[in-house]
Amino acid sequence: MKYISTRNKSIKVSAAEAIVNGISKDGGLFVPEEFPKLTKEDFDKLIEMSYPERVAKVLSLYLDDYTYEELLDYATKAYSRFYGEDPCPLVNVDDGLYVLELWHGPTCAFKDMALTMLPHLLSAARKKTGETSKTLILVATSGDTGKAALEGFRDVDGTDIIVFYPSDGVSDMQKLQMTTQLGDNVFVCAIEGNFDDAQSAVKRIFNDAEMQAKLLSNGFKLSSANSINWGRLAPQIAYYVSGYCDLISSGKINFGDKVNFCVPSGNFGNILAGYYASLMGVGVNKLICASNVNNVLTDFFTTGEYDTHRQFHKTMSPSMDILISSNLERLLFEFCSRDDKLIAERMESLKKVGKYSVSKQELEKLNRIFAVGYASEDDTAEVISNCFDVYDYLMDTHTAVAMSVYDDYYEESGDETPTVVVSTANAYKFPCDVYDALAQDYIEDAQKATKKLYSYTGEEVPEPLSDLDKKQVRFTKVIAKEDIEKQVLEYTQK
Ligand SMILES: *Cc1c(COP(=O)(O)O)cnc(C)c1O
Repeated sequence: MKYISTRNKSIKVSAAEAIVNGISKDGGLFVPEEFPKLTKEDFDKLIEMSYPERVAKVLSLYLDDYTYEELLDYATKAYSRFYGEDPCPLVNVDDGLYVLELWHGPTCAFKDMALTMLPHLLSAARKKTGETSKTLILVATSGDTGKAALEGFRDVDGTDIIVFYPSDGVSDMQKLQMTTQLGDNVFVCAIEGNFDDAQSAVKRIFNDAEMQAKLLSNGFKLSSANSINWGRLAPQIAYYVSGYCDLISSGKINFGDKVNFCVPSGNFGNILAGYYASLMGVGVNKLICASNVNNVLTDFFTTGEYDTHRQFHKTMSPSMDILISSNLERLLFEFCSRDDKLIAERMESLKKVGKYSVSKQELEKLNRIFAVGYASEDDTAEVISNCFDVYDYLMDTHTAVAMSVYDDYYEESGDETPTVVVSTANAYKFPCDVYDALAQDYIEDAQKATKKLYSYTGEEVPEPLSDLDKKQVRFTKVIAKEDIEKQVLEYTQK
């Protein structure tokens, strides 16, 4: 299967090339030429499979320049790094209500679902494409991608990784996870700015031919570990397929029945994978896109206008504090009959004037499958507390945003379809806010809040978060957002 650019369909590359390059040279994102379908027989087999086997099966339909055996080998290695029996358990919290926990990986957030796979996919892709330069992974992070990518790529041959994060825009726990990162091929740098500033600078570097030439003369070619990279997105489709299989095998639904997925969204990568799963044959009624008060997506799905001219809010769900959701580009590509010129125009408009609109027909089509909503900070805290009281279920701030939006959706629609709330982080990644929501007591220090949260809930602290305060901080550099390019060059000259 070939991959085409959302901004120019005549650009066609193999899966391995799409993964090595990360982004298309015209600035577009790679999408598969067509979406493979899973049959009833496929689902019968998938239901019997382990999670790594399910991942290998789903990926083998997209990445046909990799063998099933190769993919199974990578998936087995990747998901053996997860703790507990199941890499993504589906927890039944109430009648017809499920939580799909995607945070049992090495950094305790859903980014691990794909970022434990990506280094394997990328290393193999380098071999398959005969790449001789080193690969430089540039990451802009709102907190969780950075750590998961660092953990995934640390000391991987032929690669170096630089992570930029907003200096005041991540939780203390997230910051400490990144600044204590081990490995000889890693660099972590804070910027004075927000996530969008970091992401825009990284995208600028990807589109800057002069910059690429300079990097190449230093022996490096760029790639991305953000969800603009197809190698990041593809493994995410697998957990929607897997969650659906688990619902069937537990007898809760029959094959072909529809379910809702409610997804806490930022860059739109997670929920987009859910949409792709629906194209493959997972029964989906609604995909509910949940935002925090940075509700640019809620407004977009309501009005058809994507407008980034708005105040940026720092919230207790920092991984969703995003105003430019990159992966929406891929979704819109499907909803405008793959009109690449139109997508290129809209993205140009986004860059130049910070907004674009879709047609009424497109909006109508989108609203047939997508529902939207957002949660205020108070809503989020209240849901954490209620779910703990009522279901005895502890959730993090991002998952709580989704649960709150689902509550509103259920109340307004009366839709009784079984619903899976996608849970994206362990509560201990955001101990200060989670403890405050439960006990109305805000403790600034993440380690102290962790201890308090443990004595309040009795929930186990995951091993990767339990001894961070004993680790040495290795990275303290803070730079202006204008200096990101300079920093990248400096790193490659060392
Ligand atoms: C990244 C992240 C999100 C947002 O996911 P997108 O794919 O960017 O929409 C939500 N919650 C957590 C905890 C995250 O790390």
